[in-house]
Amino acid sequence: MARFGDRRYGPMTELVLGGRSSDEQFGFVNPPVVHGSTVLWSTVADFKAARGRYTYGRRGTPTSEALSDALKQLEGGQHVALAPSGVSAVSLALMTALKSGDHLLMVDTVYEPTRRFCDGMLRRMGVETSYYDASVGAHVSDLMRPNTKAVFVESPGSLTFEVQDVPAIAGAAHARGAAVIMDNTWATPLFFKAHDHGVDLAVSAGTKYLGGHADLMMGWVSANAAHAAALRTTHGALGLCCGPDDMFLALRGLRTLGVRLAHHQAAGLRVARWLQSRPEVARVMHPGLESDPGHALWKRDFTGASGLFAIELEPGSEAALAAFLDELELFGLGYSWGGFESLAIPFDARPMRTASKWAPQGPTVRLHIGLEDVEDLVADLDAGLARYGAVG
Ligand SMILES: *Cc1c(COP(=O)(O)O)cnc(C)c1O
Repeated sequence: MARFGDRRYGPMTELVLGGRSSDEQFGFVNPPVVHGSTVLWSTVADFKAARGRYTYGRRGTPTSEALSDALKQLEGGQHVALAPSGVSAVSLALMTALKSGDHLLMVDTVYEPTRRFCDGMLRRMGVETSYYDASVGAHVSDLMRPNTKAVFVESPGSLTFEVQDVPAIAGAAHARGAAVIMDNTWATPLFFKAHDHGVDLAVSAGTKYLGGHADLMMGWVSANAAHAAALRTTHGALGLCCGPDDMFLALRGLRTLGVRLAHHQAAGLRVARWLQSRPEVARVMHPGLESDPGHALWKRDFTGASGLFAIELEPGSEAALAAFLDELELFGLGYSWGGFESLAIPFDARPMRTASKWAPQGPTVRLHIGLEDVEDLVADLDAGLARYGAVG
């Protein structure tokens, strides 16, 4: 099998082929895992001209190239830069697009550590951030200032799952010369083609579905043609690189991303629909549900849903919430998501919202639906909600 160049296959085929090249793999199916810093030259002339495909481990290895090539194919962009975590990919994208004196428009429903980076580091570097309501759409142009150089979107929003009108926002931002950055972790580039919807710099936490097995920290940024050079330069200046074994795990995860996501989607929707029928549940926040306020936009722009969503319970005590969550047998209580296992965490988004209203009546819980049998997960939640109702 040769490199497949410009030929376009279906997305599942691309996941299987991406980053592979039989010429350089000694016939093995998978690319080699290269542990390396120094690259040797044979003459001073070659050294001085920095001749050759590789020059130094930090700047790229056959392993990092295989992974970034495969991700580039999946994203449909011009360049992919790998980062050691999702948060480092977010900061890489922001530093690629912004400089001292610039203004950033940030969605209010953004992942909380991104907010912290803006209010801390970016502020210290002379970039001002203001937050906007996720439902803003094309009206984002009313919020733009002469020095607004980037608009950041995350759709659906972290914890509360509001869907944004990304094409409308991108149109308004581009009309005034601002770049559009998106955190696309929830959908992955398989279910949302960020560049096709006007995003210039698309960020993903590979820690989630790319890794898929709760054993990896990784992130990446994909740039379109207009931002590829700036991304390369910023990535190089920051000295970001990933460990070869982690990149190997990410490549391995990529091969099964499609089948895993299809299962997470179907199982997540089944559990979400079942939860809607429960008297203890006031609201299910999942854009794939017809009743969700973001459903029409999701249906228009996305080709699928992942296994992460949230519920608002009917009012109940802290003790009732603990009774629900503490005794769950299959849902673990922990950060991150996108692995093969189901998770449930309570959250309070109120302190994280400054430009929009978030006022649930009861406790809120984020669920990740893993690869277990759906019947087992439903039985676990069924018993948990009964405990919630009993304690009250
Ligand atoms: C988890 C997450 C990140 C950060 O990824 P890490 O690898 O944990 O740093 C960024 N954005 C979103 C939406 C996430 O869920």
